[in-house]
Amino acid sequence: MSTSYSEIILWLSYIIGSVSFIVGLKMLSHPESARRGNLVAAAGMTLAIVATLFFYRTPEGEHLRNIPLILAAMALGSFLGTQGALRVKMTAMPQMVSLFNGMGGACAAMISLMEYSHNVVNGPLILSTIAAGLIIGGISFSGSLIAFLKLNGNLGDFRYQGQNIVNGLLLILLIALGAWLTFSSFSNLPLLYSIAFLTLLYGVLFVLPIGGADMPVVISLLNSFTGVAAAFGGFLYNNQIMLTGGILVGSAGTILTVLMCKAMNRSLLNVLIGNFGGTNAAQGQAQGAVREIQVSDAAVLLAYSKKVMVVPGYGLAVAQAQHICHELEKILEEKGVEVKYAIHPVAGRMPGHMNVLLAEADVPYTKLLEMEEANSEMPSTDVVVVVGANDVVNPAAKNNPSSPIYGMPILEVEEAQNVIVLKRSMGKGYAGIENELFYSPKTRMLFGDAKDSLQKLLNEIKNL
Ligand code: NDP
Repeated sequence: MSTSYSEIILWLSYIIGSVSFIVGLKMLSHPESARRGNLVAAAGMTLAIVATLFFYRTPEGEHLRNIPLILAAMALGSFLGTQGALRVKMTAMPQMVSLFNGMGGACAAMISLMEYSHNVVNGPLILSTIAAGLIIGGISFSGSLIAFLKLNGNLGDFRYQGQNIVNGLLLILLIALGAWLTFSSFSNLPLLYSIAFLTLLYGVLFVLPIGGADMPVVISLLNSFTGVAAAFGGFLYNNQIMLTGGILVGSAGTILTVLMCKAMNRSLLNVLIGNFGGTNAAQGQAQGAVREIQVSDAAVLLAYSKKVMVVPGYGLAVAQAQHICHELEKILEEKGVEVKYAIHPVAGRMPGHMNVLLAEADVPYTKLLEMEEANSEMPSTDVVVVVGANDVVNPAAKNNPSSPIYGMPILEVEEAQNVIVLKRSMGKGYAGIENELFYSPKTRMLFGDAKDSLQKLLNEIKNL
């Protein structure tokens, strides 16, 4: 059969769409091009969807049916997605990502449920694709919903003795049932629905015991699951763009998961079953006197410095202090002080958290230094201002082998001449451990909400 006009257009649209995903992903890796990268990939996706609606033909040569229904579903989904994305607060972004990711997993699982009956006769390769899409997509769906509820504060951690064994056995059972489905030569709907049910249950049980603070890593992992499940869908439909998109999401999610674990110096297994950041975390043994600094003294110190380095952390996000931080930076620069930001890869609660916050406040990205570069500039820095960061500046990561964060690369702020730490109390960070930096002779604490403290500093410096 000769290739039709429609097939060529569809094929070209899918190729252009696939290339846009790759180019868009590449552009996402730099703050300056990230926004455009997102638009490029979205444009490619739109092209692929429109081309599918108009030019796709079934093997029997028919057009897509139910176009009004498809358009209505797309309109509803787009409306809900846009409203959610417009309203979400920056600190709630991980929840949002989790929810969106769960929807992707659900779609992949639904494809398997819908396609099973008329593919039973097509043999083990197709059936194994259906089983894998259902299991991986289903885990991603229910796991992401639990992650969403945890991050939203609606669900706590849930642990019991032997939990890992139960989860392990359930996973083995799921794989065995998947193999059974693969090699069944007749339609076995009860088996299909049992797998669907157990898959959802496994997703719930898998994520329930994981500490709330580890959710970003789990979301990244589940995101890679969704990508893989979508890739199975692409294979099933012989659809190149779905395959490419799925593989890109799957591999990007996996790389991100590995990088996050590496930046926290933990293995993935430790994240999944390690109960990190829980009540059992080692406390460390920081001792000594804590020295406070008055706003007026801090203002003088900053205004008469040559070089200031701001270290933002999770507290900056909590206080929503990014705009006022930028104001402080500008006023210091007007006074001839060089101001830069030191960005730790896992500062905050999601990858790129600090970059996103500071970009929102229009801080020029040229002022943002990555960890290695920032560390090399610490000795020539007069004052480091730590704004709501804790673990990422904890020297125990370098010099206390018994610390849970030992080995994690940190911002070596104690190498600077002076350190001012803005936080509300002596409260611990995500790892739940003491920070000896706060007791260092170089350090002075400015207690209070980061936004309030920065505002007071700003007012004081203006009056100098
Ligand atoms: P931390 O969680 O270590 O510390 C944040 C500090 O901010 C707290 O000690 C808190 O102290 C302070 N704080 C909270 N609210 C405010 C406020 N309103 N004003 C001022 N200070 C405030 O944050 P870091 O960014 O240093 O470290 C991130 C941690 O999260 C690392 O351990 C990392 O491994 C982990 N993590 C990061 C992920 C990522 O992708 N970025 C993912 C998963 C985990 P106080 O209560 O006294 O004010």
